[in-house]
Amino acid sequence: MTSSINVSPTDERVIPTNCTLCVNSCGINVHVKEGKIIKVKGMPEHPLSKGALCPRGAAILDWEYAPERLKYPMKKVNGEWKRITWDEALDVIASKLREIKERQGARAVAVQVGSIGGEDRESTCFAQRFSDVYGTPNFLDPGICYTDIIRGRMLTFGRLPFEEPEGSKCIVLWGHNPEVSDPPKARRIREAIKGGAKLVVIDPKRIPFARQADVHIRPRPGTDLALALAMLNVIIDEGIYDDQFIDRWAIGFDELKAHVKQYTPEWAEEVTWVSSGDIRRIALMYAESESACIIQSTCGLGQQASGLQTARALSLLQAVTGNVYLPGTWIRIPMPHWTNHRIEIEERPIGVEDYPLYEELWGRRFRAGQGISLPDAVLEGKPYPVKAVILIAGNFVVTQPESQRFRKTFKKLDFFVVVDVFMTETAKLAHIVLPAATSLEKTGLGYTYAVTQGIPYVSLRPRVAEPPEECWSEFKFWTELAKRMGYEEYFPWKTEEDFVDFELSDMGLSAKKLRELPHGGLFFATTKHGDEAYKDGFPTPSGKIELYSETLKSYGYDPLPTYREPTESPVSTPELAKDYPLILISGTRERNFTHSEMRNIARLRNKTPQPLAEVHPDTARMYGVADGEMTAVETKKGSITIKIRATEDIAPGVVSIPHGWAQANVNMLTDTKLRDPITGIAQVKAILCRLRKA
Ligand code: SF4
Repeated sequence: MTSSINVSPTDERVIPTNCTLCVNSCGINVHVKEGKIIKVKGMPEHPLSKGALCPRGAAILDWEYAPERLKYPMKKVNGEWKRITWDEALDVIASKLREIKERQGARAVAVQVGSIGGEDRESTCFAQRFSDVYGTPNFLDPGICYTDIIRGRMLTFGRLPFEEPEGSKCIVLWGHNPEVSDPPKARRIREAIKGGAKLVVIDPKRIPFARQADVHIRPRPGTDLALALAMLNVIIDEGIYDDQFIDRWAIGFDELKAHVKQYTPEWAEEVTWVSSGDIRRIALMYAESESACIIQSTCGLGQQASGLQTARALSLLQAVTGNVYLPGTWIRIPMPHWTNHRIEIEERPIGVEDYPLYEELWGRRFRAGQGISLPDAVLEGKPYPVKAVILIAGNFVVTQPESQRFRKTFKKLDFFVVVDVFMTETAKLAHIVLPAATSLEKTGLGYTYAVTQGIPYVSLRPRVAEPPEECWSEFKFWTELAKRMGYEEYFPWKTEEDFVDFELSDMGLSAKKLRELPHGGLFFATTKHGDEAYKDGFPTPSGKIELYSETLKSYGYDPLPTYREPTESPVSTPELAKDYPLILISGTRERNFTHSEMRNIARLRNKTPQPLAEVHPDTARMYGVADGEMTAVETKKGSITIKIRATEDIAPGVVSIPHGWAQANVNMLTDTKLRDPITGIAQVKAILCRLRKA
């Protein structure tokens, strides 16, 4: 394989690329000398990150050159790892895949890509392509985030509109802590505040932005939908909706008006712990602003009992106030038109029986199964047994809910292959582990700006270093495996760059064109606001914004968001609440880590050496535990021992624990069976728990 750059052996070169240590893909300038990366700096000209790097990005070289990287293919023999060659590994994998296909059919093999598939598009593309050619419908998403937002907004607007903080007069930061999880978004919000935006923070936790908010309210975890419905009640009752916009562009307003009558602020006060006065106050502040923009977290609201319906309710708030496609609201994002790499397969993936909208909407197929269904298939044979998994860079026994069940799932497989940069807790369970190249060692595209930030920008991510020892890119792994399986014709690309050219060809772009640009990227479209954005309507079945969704109704779901208690709560399960009276928010993000990654990087780990369970001092006192004390946190699923941080930053009665830690793994407390009924996303943001002195 040829390198995508021409590194002179002695001269220092600066190569523009992007960081893929989280989905933001911030621009970086990589300084290379004598084939080694000597320095990485933020790229000031990058339209999203503007030169900034978070602590993870600043530590990218520690990650790249970490001594504990996997370097050779390995096979487990009698419980011990044995180094093998790539040829041996590929022969074993090809032979197993053939055998399973013959005996159980191709669908008995599932292929998955961890969160890296979000930021590393090519990783996902090759895995999907191979799945299609092999004939399995079971390319599975992790299935834990974001689908609630995508599908909830699509059902309402026909496409995914996205938040534009710039120029907004009112920002509602809802269950989202961007200072920690999304630093580029935090910068955009700070600039909007400087420009005069009011700020409402809705979060049980006093996040950094709460200190500069005009209003901070702390709803009971899991009741955000009740709050949104009460805001709709106030806005409609007070007549401060945009009737002209609704008349012109929406259907179902009369049904919505009748529906939200029941959700008064007084009702919501009982449900959410937020006073009716505060609910009225934020509803008025939001609806009466010249422009307003709700910024919802990627996971926080989706990992609840009514995640998709909450995303719908927030969409309805934007729609009835006319905050759609105007500057400082939710804008219409031009999406990149990738050349299609998929091959049609009629059969649907596992999970589709329970979550049909996960896979298809209005004939548009998304071609990925809900990964939460994997344990059902492997452990219970539902809807049929899955016998083998190929997993690219996912640490699911730590990051997926109910780790015990995912661990059992992977242990039960007849064949399990993991491709990763490090030996993760999940990789330890594999039969074969393969050493992956990092994103700095392979060529691809930075593209997520449109999908997660509403910025229609694409950039080249060229290979800037050679993979060490026997590390391979996914391109090389899948291409070589395809050869062994007789699928060469479906993998015609000779280099990673050939594939990038293929991805870009429908947009009239190429890797060469991007490389010739001063910073390796360009805006592939311009964002349109107002009439220009409205002019071809909304691509829903009615051509309008669907406040009332006939589509949801046709699937047997509520056509208008209807409040439902979390499956576990003091209200829905009072008996359980007697034993477990506190509410656990799991999966809090930490600034130094992305999910389970980066904990092996000393300078980051020194800043956050261990996980902490945050509880209000009153809650700690009630349980007789002190700040800094190791304490058991228990749910009906399990128990972990973790250090307590007593802080008034968290609402009384709530326990907040970060995810991604193999020690004190919060997913030992969560439950794969508690799910959003529409998306299947697990309810990990509001489950009952208790503290016990360890
Ligand atoms: S936010 Fe940090 S980790 Fe994420 S892409 Fe930017 S620099 Fe990298």
